[in-house]
Amino acid sequence: MAAGSAIQIPSRLPLLLTHEGVLLPGSTMRTSVDSPRNMQLVRSRLLKGTSLRSTIIGVVPNTSDPTSDCDDLPSLHRIGTAALAVQVVGSNWPKPHYTLLVTGLCRFQILQLLKEKPYPVAEVEQLDRLEQFTNQHKSEEELGELSEQFYKYAVQLVEMLDMSVPAVAKLRRLLDNLPREALPDILTSIIRTSNQEKLQVVTIRPNRRINHIPSVTEDEEEEEDHDDVVMLEKRIRTSSMSEQALKVCLKEIKRLKKMPQSMPEYALTRNYLELMVELPWNKSTKDRLEIRAARILLDNDHYAMEKLKKRVLEYLAVRQLKNNLKGPILCFVGPPGVGKTSVGRSIAKTLGREFHRIALGGVCDQSDIRGHRRTYVGSMPGRIINGLKTVGVNNPVFLLDEVDKLGKSLQGDPAAALLEVLDPEQNHGFTDHYLNVAFDLSQVLFIATANTTATIPPALLDRMEIIQVPGYTQEEKIEIAHRHLIPKQLEQHGLTPQQIQIPQVTTLDIITRYTREAGVRSLDRKLGAICRAVAVKVAEGQHKETKPDRAEVDEEDCKEHVTEDAKTESISDTADLALPPEMPILIDFHALKDILGPPMYEMEVSERLSQPGVAIGLAWTPLGGEIMFVEASRMDGEGQLTLTGQLGDVMKESAHLAISWLRSNAKRYQLTNTSGSFDLLDNTDIHLHFPAGAVTKDGPSAGVTIVTCLASLFSGRLVCSDVAMTGEITLRGLVLPVGGIKDKVLAAHRAGLKRIIIPRRNEKDLEEIAVNVRQDLTFVMASCLDEVLNAAFDGGFAVKPRVERLNSKL
Ligand code: ADP
Repeated sequence: MAAGSAIQIPSRLPLLLTHEGVLLPGSTMRTSVDSPRNMQLVRSRLLKGTSLRSTIIGVVPNTSDPTSDCDDLPSLHRIGTAALAVQVVGSNWPKPHYTLLVTGLCRFQILQLLKEKPYPVAEVEQLDRLEQFTNQHKSEEELGELSEQFYKYAVQLVEMLDMSVPAVAKLRRLLDNLPREALPDILTSIIRTSNQEKLQVVTIRPNRRINHIPSVTEDEEEEEDHDDVVMLEKRIRTSSMSEQALKVCLKEIKRLKKMPQSMPEYALTRNYLELMVELPWNKSTKDRLEIRAARILLDNDHYAMEKLKKRVLEYLAVRQLKNNLKGPILCFVGPPGVGKTSVGRSIAKTLGREFHRIALGGVCDQSDIRGHRRTYVGSMPGRIINGLKTVGVNNPVFLLDEVDKLGKSLQGDPAAALLEVLDPEQNHGFTDHYLNVAFDLSQVLFIATANTTATIPPALLDRMEIIQVPGYTQEEKIEIAHRHLIPKQLEQHGLTPQQIQIPQVTTLDIITRYTREAGVRSLDRKLGAICRAVAVKVAEGQHKETKPDRAEVDEEDCKEHVTEDAKTESISDTADLALPPEMPILIDFHALKDILGPPMYEMEVSERLSQPGVAIGLAWTPLGGEIMFVEASRMDGEGQLTLTGQLGDVMKESAHLAISWLRSNAKRYQLTNTSGSFDLLDNTDIHLHFPAGAVTKDGPSAGVTIVTCLASLFSGRLVCSDVAMTGEITLRGLVLPVGGIKDKVLAAHRAGLKRIIIPRRNEKDLEEIAVNVRQDLTFVMASCLDEVLNAAFDGGFAVKPRVERLNSKL
């Protein structure tokens, strides 16, 4: 096993190319041989005649692609290890190969390749010679000292291991018995190192070799890691964590020091400690609040939403005066895309605080809020603690997004955990299960958002001050688009107003024909799509190319263009048409169609109302107001009522009420079934359908619409095509007030309807609606169903006096 000092190797060596490992002098390696050259070498040198032990071969690491060793000899590693093959085993499975056991003797350097086939033979120079060390005086001294140091170091490392294990004890003895110079090689072969590292050890000079090993062994023996733990302890001691936390951390670090790194708990504990150190126990930003500046900032960032901005300013002012955060949590309630998140962000900006959004939609496990206990691998802190780690300060603004979409499951109620987070009486001692020590949340400013209050857990609702954020009118949307959305989109896409121009009529087209929403989120997305398309054009520089004047291109040509490559061609056509090349690309309706496709909402309301038995109602959903078609048909049957379109119970009751009222008033209105009977359900089935069947609908406000729709069906008259309605009904034909008037009116306005029938007792709600919207519409206040029907049909829905009807019968 000794290193090569006593052995003189031949000056010509057959070379065995290995790609599976690096053989070091003094160590033994098993290697598989299956390439044609190596197989040849084994057959002619190791298996023929002479005893195995007397043949010295040169083992050279093959650093090139192992699969490419066919014809050309790969560029050989210059330095190799002379070796004895101690064992050769052959096998035919899965293909012919030999397995060699080789022991390294000493290094050699290839001087010249003498032949390549059938296996390479080279003229070599032996490198490891003891005389070499002793001849050079300086080097010997240096090496002697170095190798002594190295020996001590190795002993120290081995003594850290368990001496009762026989292999360890043997290793310890080996260290003492080996020549010092051989230590680096042997140690490198024992420890877990990459081939690359072994290769380096094979190649470098003796003194550097010794110096090199400690870095290799450090990686293996976790020395570095130990340093890390010491560092971690230092960080814990100097961090500003609470006393309770410090105590826990010091206990944990003590445990960590004793733990072997391979234990799963090691990583767990370490992650825990890292988190504890990183948490902003005492780090906060300084609030700056100047109400006048806050007002300006809110106004600059947001168009309209006056009520909301006013309330937010009041809230901030009170906070400033009281200088604490106790009080209700603000909760912005409104459809998506109306700026709830954006206002939250502005609040953080006004206060100079960090902002973090916590999405609660779909959260149904309380450990999402409160963390998992640290008992299993993969446990994590909850979103609150995670958020604090992310922002790095203990007084951020946390936006709890979609509190109305919290779920509930067997894993506990997240709402209850959230209550604890929000309660100013408790939240200074909030204990995340993962941390298992209290963290003070009292400096965090919480703001919540929701689409509807209906599904916010009552206990949470109780802690919140609800601020309604209604949808926008078309005019407001246009302003928002031009003041805020378009500039933002241009910036995001690297465009300037000199390159793209979106006139207000185009924005209006997007709003009315490509989106149907209360907020501005889709509008923003569509604007983004336009900017992307234009960015491509600008980048291509295509709009700068001079194209033939439109006047010269005849109609046929144009058509061809559009069908060939509708999207791209037409935008540039438009641009070239409207403006000289250096002018902005103008987005008109033509360009809009190319980029966004054909309009999505060109629903012809009048078309759908071209048959009796259809009426338009107004619905309120968490996403804003919507117009809703109610359709009815009748057929021969036994007086059954079928309802389709995913209706809730209240809505079904409204349908029954509507039919009962109509049946009892059939004579008065001269409504008959197909066979002329006033009993509308005699031999007749009725089917009522509420399209958009995928959306669940409920609530009483469709009552008047169902009555109108059925009145149209039984009278055979068409409902006016520009009228929409909402209102609850009673059995006696009264119309009762309903909620969400503002959103409903905006939806009717968006859909281009002109007349709106609302319950008389909702008249006061109209004040909230912008004057320009009100101007476009006619409102009919109804307190009973007679008034509703009169307004819904052209020329009214006259009540025929009973007498007249009787007379005519006679
Ligand atoms: P929400 O949280 O209500 O779903 P967001 O705050 O995400 O809506 O708003 C969507 C986008 O619309 C944001 O880019 C926001 O800045 C913009 N936005 C919404 N309302 C306004 C407004 N009144 N003024 C300016 N931008 C607005």
